[in-house]
Amino acid sequence: MGYKIVEIAPKSITTPNGITYEQPVGLFINNQFIKSQNEKTMAIENPSTGENVVEVCSAAKEDVDYAVDCAEHAFEKTDWASQDPRIRGRYLSKLADLMEENLELMASIETMDNGKTIALSRGDVQLAIDCIRDAAAYSDKTDGRSVNTGDGYVNYTIREPIGVCGQIIPWNFPLMMLAWKVGPALAMGNCIILKPASATPLNALFFASLTKKAGIPDGVVNIVPGPGGMVGTALTTHPKVRKVAFTGSTDIGKDIAVKSSGSNLKKITLELGGKSAHLVFDDADLEKTLPNLVNGIFKNAGQICSSGSRIYAQAGIYDKLLAAFKEYIEKNLKVGDPFDESNFQGAITNKEQYNTILKYINIGKDEGAKVLTGGKVASEKGYFIKPTVFYDVNEDMRIVKEEIFGPCVTISKFETIEDGVAMANDSEFGLGAGIETENLSTALKVAKMLHSGTVWINTYNDFDSRVPFGGYKQSGYGREMGSEVYECYTQTKAVRIKL
Ligand code: NAP
Ligand code: MG
Repeated sequence: MGYKIVEIAPKSITTPNGITYEQPVGLFINNQFIKSQNEKTMAIENPSTGENVVEVCSAAKEDVDYAVDCAEHAFEKTDWASQDPRIRGRYLSKLADLMEENLELMASIETMDNGKTIALSRGDVQLAIDCIRDAAAYSDKTDGRSVNTGDGYVNYTIREPIGVCGQIIPWNFPLMMLAWKVGPALAMGNCIILKPASATPLNALFFASLTKKAGIPDGVVNIVPGPGGMVGTALTTHPKVRKVAFTGSTDIGKDIAVKSSGSNLKKITLELGGKSAHLVFDDADLEKTLPNLVNGIFKNAGQICSSGSRIYAQAGIYDKLLAAFKEYIEKNLKVGDPFDESNFQGAITNKEQYNTILKYINIGKDEGAKVLTGGKVASEKGYFIKPTVFYDVNEDMRIVKEEIFGPCVTISKFETIEDGVAMANDSEFGLGAGIETENLSTALKVAKMLHSGTVWINTYNDFDSRVPFGGYKQSGYGREMGSEVYECYTQTKAVRIKL
């Protein structure tokens, strides 16, 4: 029996802040929203209330195969990849315009689906738009180079797209992670199948409707929600998928690397977990440092891969920092309804993660760490946890070693610069790191010594779509954003001519 295409109409939804819109609920394949072959759906929850918002179609393996066939057709049999690249840039510009027109709606969808505060969601949508605009501008920056090997030859290189790319993203930044991957892939002439996280597929499907409105041709963008083990594996093992880009946990990242390599040696980029260190030196200006520490660990309820989840304070400032940090958090960080503009922190995105964080808080207490503030739930309804700080920790504790991925941080003490750096670098992860100091030499020296893909100085979790982002060690490989990401979506052909 062949593949059966049954279109499915969007559902009318009203967001908790009162915006009524049409939410696509089908798999987005070949510019159509369609039902899954096995007709399965999954319930999408609002984590602030625990209520179901809508049911979304959940893909079967046959759906992934169909999506790959459509993407391959668009790549091989249409002029998507070979046309003047500026034309792709125009599609992406139009897409960014449409996102801008829908900024408040997309922010509201994000807050309803993910639980983050509306202010954060607005920032995320803006960063996503920036990323699509950068991709539009970058679409024709694919020039190769000529290589001089002496008079007997002419050599030149061409940068070409890779082909059909599978993209698998997590639930902490549903729209931003999508934009980081989709924009550069399309700009370079690839065709994509993206799998959103099962907890947060709503904005990805809404975004799909905008790609269609922007006129992006059939098969170029496909968005296929469904269980990671099945849809993800179907992508990573598929013989026609040539690249997989993944953001998520280190364990799944390793599985993806094995499957992608074992099937057909796909190119892979991996953005994985972290346990990033944020160093506060004796001369740091506490007034500037406190908001940076807060941004480091409590932004997005700590569900950021680069969260500064290990704070290291130099001995001369340690006691002062503990007192000031506690006061600052208890005075300023209100937790609750993410649509209430006065709240700093919203809900944890799903029940599983909520339980994981509470488990780690108990582990910390059992290990003998002291709780400076928080350490408990913030509400009986929905998934809310108080900003939690542990002190009097030692470096072998699980709460210091393992990624918690929640509003939970440890503070350790160090004596010399060398000690602080050694403690910061004592991790299998290497995603982010932070330095708080007023001394330029200390800042630049320590930035060189830290083993991480990003170092922030006197700021933290501070992203710009022009600055590359990615991991050292088990935090992954490949880069997103900056000019580096475009390297990850092209391959180089060398042409050598004998004269
Ligand atoms: P996850 O469990 O690894 O899931 C990430 C994505 O992979 C989801 O779409 C998931 O689908 C899918 N997946 C699950 N099993 C799979 C498999 N066997 N093959 C292919 N795909 C599979 O991570 P998460 O819990 O959602 O996200 C939190 C983690 O992501 C943290 O460790 C965090 O550090 C990391 N992260 C890293 C970055 C970065 O840039 N480095 C950014 C954000 C998050 P389902 O949703 O259906 O399970
Ligand atoms: Mg949700």
